[in-house]
Amino acid sequence: MEMKNQVKDYLQTKDIDIGFQDLTDLVIDKNNCVFCGSCISLCPRIGMNEKEPKLLEYDPECSTCFRYCPRTYFPTEMFEEELFNGNASKNYSIGYYQKLVAAKSNDEAVLKRAQNGGVVSKLLIHALDSGLIDGVLLTDKYDNWYPKPVIARTPEEILSCVGSKYTISPTLITYREAIREFKLKKLAFVGVPCQINAVRKLQLSSPLSEEYGKFKLIIGLYCYSNYTYDLLKAFVQGELGIPLNTVKKFDISKGKFYVYMKDGSVKQVPIKMTKQYTWNSCHYCKDFSAEIADISVGSAGALSDDWNSVLLRTDIGVKVFNDTVKSNNLITSDNIDLVKIEKTAYRKKTRITQIDEKMLNTMRLLDISEVEIKTYTSLMSLGQASESLLSEVMKVEKNFVISALESLKQREWVLLSNGIYISVDPTLVINNEISKLRKKFLEKIGILNSEVLPELESIFVRNNINQMRHKKEL
Ligand SMILES: Cc1cc2nc3c(=O)[nH]c(=O)nc-3n(C[C@H](O)[C@H](O)[C@H](O)COP(=O)(O)OP(=O)(O)OC[C@H]3O[C@@H](n4cnc5c(N)ncnc54)[C@H](O)[C@@H]3O)c2cc1C
Ligand code: SF4
Ligand code: SF4
Repeated sequence: MEMKNQVKDYLQTKDIDIGFQDLTDLVIDKNNCVFCGSCISLCPRIGMNEKEPKLLEYDPECSTCFRYCPRTYFPTEMFEEELFNGNASKNYSIGYYQKLVAAKSNDEAVLKRAQNGGVVSKLLIHALDSGLIDGVLLTDKYDNWYPKPVIARTPEEILSCVGSKYTISPTLITYREAIREFKLKKLAFVGVPCQINAVRKLQLSSPLSEEYGKFKLIIGLYCYSNYTYDLLKAFVQGELGIPLNTVKKFDISKGKFYVYMKDGSVKQVPIKMTKQYTWNSCHYCKDFSAEIADISVGSAGALSDDWNSVLLRTDIGVKVFNDTVKSNNLITSDNIDLVKIEKTAYRKKTRITQIDEKMLNTMRLLDISEVEIKTYTSLMSLGQASESLLSEVMKVEKNFVISALESLKQREWVLLSNGIYISVDPTLVINNEISKLRKKFLEKIGILNSEVLPELESIFVRNNINQMRHKKEL
């Protein structure tokens, strides 16, 4: 409850002077923006170019865009408390869930068009037909595969969005239109984990949740990373020489990037060739399975690519899924590899930022060992961690990690709470180190002035008294 009040305070305080410039400084210019479209939808003064939001006119600095951006303060624990009851248990790698199951559509026409088993589209169509939702914010595409955020209100419109577009998309941009112009009151949303965070922030955080909390069903897609549109334009069309309007489907599976052409041919390249086109903030993203969605859907862990693996998380997610199965729209199977999903999610969650050699050398100024620096930066990447997790992720023996943590604790670089270590904000850490250096430096100057100089002077005088007189006479 205390946390809830804190979050409420944060979101309700209309901080004067916080506006789009702060969003630009902290999120957009720091390569943290996931281009979800939330700020663009919330504020008519914000527009966008190909890859980021842009201020169009005078900014009254009402702070709304900043407070509701999923990349500023995000109260994960509070949302988890709100969404998951005793029916769900927490898994470190994939979050809270009630059940993991394999599923696919039993409709051949859907299977032919869908990315995998067509579960996402079938769940949405069932939710629409049963009246649970009256519309859904989805991602369609133009002929050149440029992503196109849309509002779907019929099964046909849902089906025209099937298939994954491996380009970051401002899917939430249509939100304002959906509730203001179409007057939709019961929305669904489908998106990658970072977009799900934006939607939950709108849905669960007052004051905007009263007007904007119209989401009834939130479906997350598994996501290891996403790309800029250059992957398709510069790589597929430019380097591979494949015109984008001849492509039927893109897929990433088992370390390969596949391009399926409309003429039936298939081109595949190793996934590492696509790496340079990765969207910047994806390098630091830790959520693979859309941990705060109602239902998360992917293909990882499923028997084959025409099946989906489905994580049922909230009560509403379980109900929608069971109802869709009962109405004979989906078939299910227990043949699913949890370990495989966990491994992928764990790999993403424990990605750590490596410090380069130049930075290591600079940091040695602070009289700190390499393992201590690496422990601190790894902890920063993980958010928080136990000694064992750090030792596993850093691939350093636990004893070394324990002694590095002890020393970092004394230097106030890390905090320990209930056996879990948390990194202290680097501004505090470095300012603290600067004060310590300054104090040491001033102490040394004091000693030089008060002890060393008088002592040397007296030795010098005692030994050179004659020359000095001589000098004086001169
Ligand atoms: C960028 C991206 C990366 C992914 N990475 C993985 C992965 O690493 N491992 C894995 O197992 N699964 C991944 N998936 C999920 C997988 O590709 C399928 O979307 C999922 O299995 C659902 O299949 P389906 O047949 O039920 O979907 P369909 O019934 O075909 O429906 C697909 C839905 O995805 C939505 N969509 C498509 N592109 C985007 C986009 N760019 N942004 C937001 N929504 C979009 C559409 O609106 C549509 O409703 C990824 C999906 C995306 C979009
Ligand atoms: S709200 Fe979304 S689009 Fe706007 S700055 Fe934040 S992440 Fe980027
Ligand atoms: S990797 Fe993370 S930041 Fe990138 S698209 Fe996927 S969920 Fe969003």
